[in-house]
Amino acid sequence: MAKTEYEAVIGLEIHIQINTKSKMFCGSDNAEVEEPNVNVCPICMGHPGTLPVVNDEAIKKGLAMALALNCKINQDSKFDRKQYFYPDLPKGYQISQYDLPLAEKGYLEIYPDNITPMQVKIERLHLEEDTAKIFHTKDGVQLDFNRAGSPLMEIVTEPDFDDPAEAKLFLQDLQIIARYLDVSDADMEKGHLRCDANISIREKGDKALYPKTEIKNLNSFRAVENALNFEIKRQTRLWEDNEAPDKQETRGWNDKKKETVPQRAKEGLADYRYFPEPDIPPLVFEKKDIQKIEDYMPALPHVRRERFMQEYGLSYVNARIVTNNPKIADYFEDSMSELQAWLYSLDNTEGSDEEIWTKYGDKVTKMLLSTLTTEVFGLLKENNQDFIDLKITPENIAELITLKWENKLNSANAKKVLRVMFDKGSDPSQVMEEEDLEQVQDVGEIDAICDRIIKNNPDPAEDFKNGKEKSLMFLVGQAMKESKGKANPQMLMDIFHKKLDNK
Ligand SMILES: [Zn+2]
Repeated sequence: MAKTEYEAVIGLEIHIQINTKSKMFCGSDNAEVEEPNVNVCPICMGHPGTLPVVNDEAIKKGLAMALALNCKINQDSKFDRKQYFYPDLPKGYQISQYDLPLAEKGYLEIYPDNITPMQVKIERLHLEEDTAKIFHTKDGVQLDFNRAGSPLMEIVTEPDFDDPAEAKLFLQDLQIIARYLDVSDADMEKGHLRCDANISIREKGDKALYPKTEIKNLNSFRAVENALNFEIKRQTRLWEDNEAPDKQETRGWNDKKKETVPQRAKEGLADYRYFPEPDIPPLVFEKKDIQKIEDYMPALPHVRRERFMQEYGLSYVNARIVTNNPKIADYFEDSMSELQAWLYSLDNTEGSDEEIWTKYGDKVTKMLLSTLTTEVFGLLKENNQDFIDLKITPENIAELITLKWENKLNSANAKKVLRVMFDKGSDPSQVMEEEDLEQVQDVGEIDAICDRIIKNNPDPAEDFKNGKEKSLMFLVGQAMKESKGKANPQMLMDIFHKKLDNK
């Protein structure tokens, strides 16, 4: 009998902390601070007799996110009380949304193989307030209410994933969108973006859904992927042993042991006894309210990604790298237009702008991409700096690429120039002049150097003549040294070949 094949059914529940100035239902500051219990007031402390007031900014950001996820905005929406008792919830209930969420039935397209779109359906997006932070110390339980009442949006996907890598990619794309829309910093490590994953297993081809396991405490993208992979193995084994889970379970991820562990299950949905929040009037959205939000939304990452692919001929992977962060996308775009301006202004490029671009555009784009994403990003990482700290302007990076393209700088010296630009924000042609790095382009001069090197190194020259390729590298190295690093290595190789190849 053929071995039964199994597949995973995965859905995500994501909480995103919204970066509003004040909290969801009161005027307390929504900033992250070290000192506990400073950003609090009677409303978010749950004092009796206080009245919550909805934060408009949180609603707008929620709507923007919903639109970005292609959701249907509910014209009528409301807040509900979700009742449960826990020390982190002073009111005894959390203000959330139950049967009329802000938005529902959306989708997001992701590209797991970098080519084919996969549609992930969004079940709902609703707003709610965060709880306090609990610390279990040796002196007992301590509470910090700074986060209590902070605005959250919860996004629930349909169980559309069967591969943990897809779930991770979806989360990463969600993070990028949240940053584009400036609704959140969406940093998983800092708890701005929190994810619970639901997973069950079934025989391949079976359409039924079986009791799922909810995994909590996933605070990095890697944890999401690792925890899901662990659960697939664990649950598949249970299925193979005829012990498939027969009831819903909650497990936590232990990142040190790389395993999930059972957690006390929370009360079922019915236990919450949701009912409409009587102190907050229902929300009603007119078409023009939604239109206003749409008008203010920036171009979304996938729109820019597609445009970069079309306009600059980037691959999906490269387009994704430069559009992951809106600031990098702006920078790349500014650099590209500077680069075009440089290229069109050079004496040795002839023809209309369009002809010049058709001829050289691809090459300079690749040069810019690799300088930016390999060298500049590398320097940022090495120096523990963020992209916004970058001192190199788009104009200067475009000029550096032009100098390389014109062969005025060889790649070793271009790296030296880039380093100075990175440290001081200097202009590349000025650095090139000051440090005397301009590549020697005079063929006669290079030819003379090669003759001298051959004369002074007869043995390696003879070896190369006899087919020892390694000796060529030695000769080129000597010639580079002789030129003080300013020769073009390719030109040197060509000349040595011409002079020494056995014909
Ligand atoms: Zn407050």
